[in-house]
Amino acid sequence: MRQNSETELKRILETEGFTFKKSLGQNFITDPSVCPRMAQSAADKDTGIIEIGPGAGVLTCCLCEAAKKVVAIEIDERLKPVLSKTLSGFDNVKVIFADVLKTDLNALISQEFSDCKRVNICANLPYYITSPILMGILSSKPDIESVTAMVQKEAAVRICAEVGTRAAGAVTAAVDYLSDAEILFDVSKECFLPVPKVDSAVIRLTLRKEPKVKVISEEMFFKTAKACFAQRRKTLLNTVSSTLGVDKSELKRIIADMDLSESVRGENLTLEQLARLSDEIFKIIKGDKNDK
Ligand code: SAM
Repeated sequence: MRQNSETELKRILETEGFTFKKSLGQNFITDPSVCPRMAQSAADKDTGIIEIGPGAGVLTCCLCEAAKKVVAIEIDERLKPVLSKTLSGFDNVKVIFADVLKTDLNALISQEFSDCKRVNICANLPYYITSPILMGILSSKPDIESVTAMVQKEAAVRICAEVGTRAAGAVTAAVDYLSDAEILFDVSKECFLPVPKVDSAVIRLTLRKEPKVKVISEEMFFKTAKACFAQRRKTLLNTVSSTLGVDKSELKRIIADMDLSESVRGENLTLEQLARLSDEIFKIIKGDKNDK
């Protein structure tokens, strides 16, 4: 389907008797200007692209035109006949019907992209699992350079916020630790079929060669970040002691050593302070285990 028009898309979906599943986050792009901009940010003729959730293949077609090869992972097998129509003009695409959260991206990259100079991810993400998908990608440290993703506007603002500001969340800390995040452009909800309740934005995460800060244990860093933002109205002391089971007096000592006030909240911590806190908690928990 080289003619990315709403009428053409509707006709194919209708012919194949396709009905949208809200539970799978199915809102397909219809505005012809959006996909080329996403493809341009992610691909060139030396690049292999992993697309998550091709849907009816509108973005996939643009990626096929821009990239050397595209491997698209789609959970909904009902889209098979639709995709075989819309992608019929391309010989550089493969669709895998699977759950991206259960897909080994490192294995996929070595199996499918040995002839590409680099691999990037590009997707209009299913919004109900935006954070698990992004966290899964980043924490598995795949050999990719960037992730270009359409997400809900609110999620884009959170993901790209500065750690230590009110707009940040646990996902902000994890993303900043492993990548450089930016909002590329906003996309109106009117650009989708069916029209969702909220607007979207396209973000790009450029993966860092090394994490932004050094930590003893990445697992503890992610757990600490999650705990710090778990109950935003509570102090860091209360939320971290209850979520991670750290003794309050030990935590008070750490907070004082870090020159922070006892009333500090998790959302006030910078990335460097989160890293220090996670290292100190790691030492306490490891020490407790060694004492037993
Ligand atoms: N890329 C298409 C577009 O832009 O028009 C569709 C995007 S739609 C927002 C999200 C797509 O992700 C849907 O096709 C949905 O079926 C698929 N999806 C949902 N959960 C998934 C999962 N766990 N693994 C792979 N694909 C998934």
